[in-house]
Amino acid sequence: MLVVMKAQATPEQIQAVCEHIEQLGFRAHPLPGAQRTAIGITGNKGEVDRGNLESLSGVAEVIRVSKAYKLASRDVKEEDTVISFPGTDAAIGGRNLAIVAGPCSIESRDQAFAIAEQVASSGAQFFRGGAFKPRTSPYAFQGLGLEALKIMAEIRDRYGLRIVTEAIDSESLAMVAEWADVIQIGARNMQNFSLLKRAGRLRKPVLLKRGLSATLEEFLMAAEYVMSEGNYQVILCERGIRTFTDHSRNTLDLSIIPAVHHLSHLPILVDPSHATGKRESVLPMARAAVASGADGILVEVHHQPDKALSDGPQSIYPSQFATMMDEIQQIAPVVGRNLPRGIHATAVAG
Ligand code: PEP
Ligand code: MN
Repeated sequence: MLVVMKAQATPEQIQAVCEHIEQLGFRAHPLPGAQRTAIGITGNKGEVDRGNLESLSGVAEVIRVSKAYKLASRDVKEEDTVISFPGTDAAIGGRNLAIVAGPCSIESRDQAFAIAEQVASSGAQFFRGGAFKPRTSPYAFQGLGLEALKIMAEIRDRYGLRIVTEAIDSESLAMVAEWADVIQIGARNMQNFSLLKRAGRLRKPVLLKRGLSATLEEFLMAAEYVMSEGNYQVILCERGIRTFTDHSRNTLDLSIIPAVHHLSHLPILVDPSHATGKRESVLPMARAAVASGADGILVEVHHQPDKALSDGPQSIYPSQFATMMDEIQQIAPVVGRNLPRGIHATAVAG
């Protein structure tokens, strides 16, 4: 159910409706919009008594949301979600494209700084790097853990880049939430419901990658898990799905972008690196992603990919990253978007 407040409803009236909903034993999710505030109701098994809610002051109407996902749905929130990063001009969602770049794994301080320096100078606003790696083989490099998180925090201090890194379980989630700006939940964990719920109890943006064989509905339901716990800052990421294709690691499903934008207000990034697994395919797919309306790109960059401890073959060189930025900057205006270059500090409202 969704309670739509009148445009002129006061904060007190919104608060009173939320309290009423919670008293009924449900959960209230106030979702402020440009025109009016809507309040999502979750936790109800059947119908909520509509008449009662409609009689509360400030309420315009009460609507039934028929989709399985509620808070992720555009039915509940019409405007695109824009996730901002206080103290900076960086944002994910909205007109500006967000670019997340960096190595698959943080391997050493020197490696991380060498790559960060280059992606920052080409204008990325976000730096990625795995500290905890979900590897197919238990014998493969598992990540530097806390040491990597500390290196990335130093990179944020030096270049201003906001940090995106993956949490693979509840232990790493607590650490990632403490050190990073965006918590990545990987493809293999997209349906790890207890991890999603834990991430939902935090107040940090969550970048949720599409599962290897997840349908759009399953993907949005995974986002719903995070949002149902009160964390509405969810960024989706298409990273390729398993098909019978033998020319690339996965199949990049770009047609999910307009489908997501139709059904949901959440932003969606595209990861052409894991989608293709091949360096030479990354730039063409990044261009196509922007042309298809993606809200940004997440890409693996390595200065010495031959020596990379993970995902070297799909990592592009810093010079290719610079080319990618120039190319998508040209494509962006054709599809009504803008590519900001570099991250800048803004005054924090006091
Ligand atoms: C990654 O981003 O390095 C990663 C492991 O991604 P995915 O979960 O999409 O495989
Ligand atoms: Mn990787």
